[in-house]
Amino acid sequence: MSNQKKLLFLPGDGIGAEVMAQVKRVIDWMDQKRSVNFDIQEELIGGVAIDAKGVPLPEETLEAAKNSDAILMGAVGGPKWEKLPFEIQPERGLLGIRKELGLFANLRPALVFDALVGASSLKENIVKGLDIMIVRELTGGIYFGEPRGVDVNPDGSKTGYNTLTYSSSEVQRIGRVALDLAGKRNNKVCSVDKANVLETTVMWREEMEGLSPEYPNVELSHMYVDNAAMQLVRDPKQFDVVVTTNMFGDILSDCAAMLTGSLGMLPSASLGEVDSNGNRPALYEPVHGSAPDIAGKNLANPLATILSYSMLLRYSFDLVEDANLIENAVKEILSDGLRTGDIMEDGLTQVTTEQMGDAILEKLNVVAS
Ligand code: NAD
Repeated sequence: MSNQKKLLFLPGDGIGAEVMAQVKRVIDWMDQKRSVNFDIQEELIGGVAIDAKGVPLPEETLEAAKNSDAILMGAVGGPKWEKLPFEIQPERGLLGIRKELGLFANLRPALVFDALVGASSLKENIVKGLDIMIVRELTGGIYFGEPRGVDVNPDGSKTGYNTLTYSSSEVQRIGRVALDLAGKRNNKVCSVDKANVLETTVMWREEMEGLSPEYPNVELSHMYVDNAAMQLVRDPKQFDVVVTTNMFGDILSDCAAMLTGSLGMLPSASLGEVDSNGNRPALYEPVHGSAPDIAGKNLANPLATILSYSMLLRYSFDLVEDANLIENAVKEILSDGLRTGDIMEDGLTQVTTEQMGDAILEKLNVVAS
């Protein structure tokens, strides 16, 4: 791989800096032992950017984001900035990057590690071996559709409204992300809609059907969102890749996340469109927030962020072997019984954020030798 691949590092707020410090150690290890070299630039985002520059997404951060091959972020937000006006709250920094880079595809894997099967709220036989991928459309749909608002009626009552819109091209581009992914996994895509009620999703379903002949090896099915919510908790292993609209994906991905039992274990990716040079803007981040309740205490679980880095290697750079190395190291550590507080169980060994980082490096040394 070229030495010139640019990685933008955005630790952000709260535990963001703590978990990103552990990823940095993994990156340095990869650099030394696997020749996975990145040109790393670190910038401010969120609350720390507000403190230093007065805005959650400083110009230089956005510029660096546009010039990077991939972005790895910790988390943004915290009580210190909660009372600020909506437009300059820390979360606007993340939303700004998503918007500016056109990150329309949100990938949220829900993977249950054998050693953590007891952490799920569902029975072991339902979740053991679970490995599904929710692909959520991120920049369209009812969250962005116009017109929107709340009107005051002549009698003083109010009418609120939002609009669910999707164009053919918006459905096709997210559909292709899901179908491509399925081709690298278990060749199944379930497209979730509400085509029995919403015309927009009748069109969504037709567009998905239209793409299907381009992917003869991928089995495409459709499901109404209410049934999908039910099936996710009844028999989640029936799914491989699930693709859906912004709002349905928002809800279903959180539901799928909880099948795995722990916020501290969940990575995610947000991808944009491939440009004429074959580059695709991409941001990787843990699903969790800045966890102000444990920030600065060396208690945070760094594995979601470390797994976000393995997604980055897999999806932005096709470094499948290196991604597998990291994922196997995580599996082995969990099997050895090491746990941060969030995934702690009786009889196992509780470790700090840094000790979890130490364990990953030790394990990488063993699996790579
Ligand atoms: P949170 O995810 O930060 O924390 C929820 C609970 O999970 C807390 O008890 C926390 O201690 C625990 N937790 C989260 N990550 C953990 C980890 N890696 N290891 C161990 N425990 C972990 O959600 P919240 O409390 O609702 O939000 C806190 C702040 O984070 C808010 O300002 C919110 O807006 C922000 N937030 C940011 C993002 C993001 O940056 N993408 C996402 C969600 C929330």
